[in-house]
Amino acid sequence: MSYDPNNVFARILRGEIPNNTVYEDDHVLAFHDISPARPVHVLVIPKGPYKSLTEMAQHGKDEEIAALFRAIEKVATLTRVRDSGYRVITNIGEDGGQEVPHLHFHVLGGGPVGPMLKR
Ligand code: 5GP
Repeated sequence: MSYDPNNVFARILRGEIPNNTVYEDDHVLAFHDISPARPVHVLVIPKGPYKSLTEMAQHGKDEEIAALFRAIEKVATLTRVRDSGYRVITNIGEDGGQEVPHLHFHVLGGGPVGPMLKR
């Protein structure tokens, strides 16, 4: 399936839906999740049209990929979770539980995040 330009994060990138921005640069936008699962819950997304990590790893420019990785650290610093610790999650596809088909990293923290996965 190709990239859906009407997914909610594409609409946020076009300014059609408001967001609470934490960080932005040429390649990346980071904003608070609308339904936070932890005291800090920020979504870090590339500006390019990549459905998931799979597509960005295959087709993204190294510069875009590096910017995304660096932006995660900047978000952790800006939200003051960098030193206490935090978790980064990206869901991919159906089995991964991905709901929005535009690559996003969840940055979660602001207290113990909890066990990685329930067994
Ligand atoms: P996924 O399940 O795809 O990994 O995560 C999608 C995330 O996007 C969810 O945590 C959900 O709360 C968040 N989300 C969905 N729609 C919006 C929106 O319009 N604005 C913001 N800020 N977050 C959204």
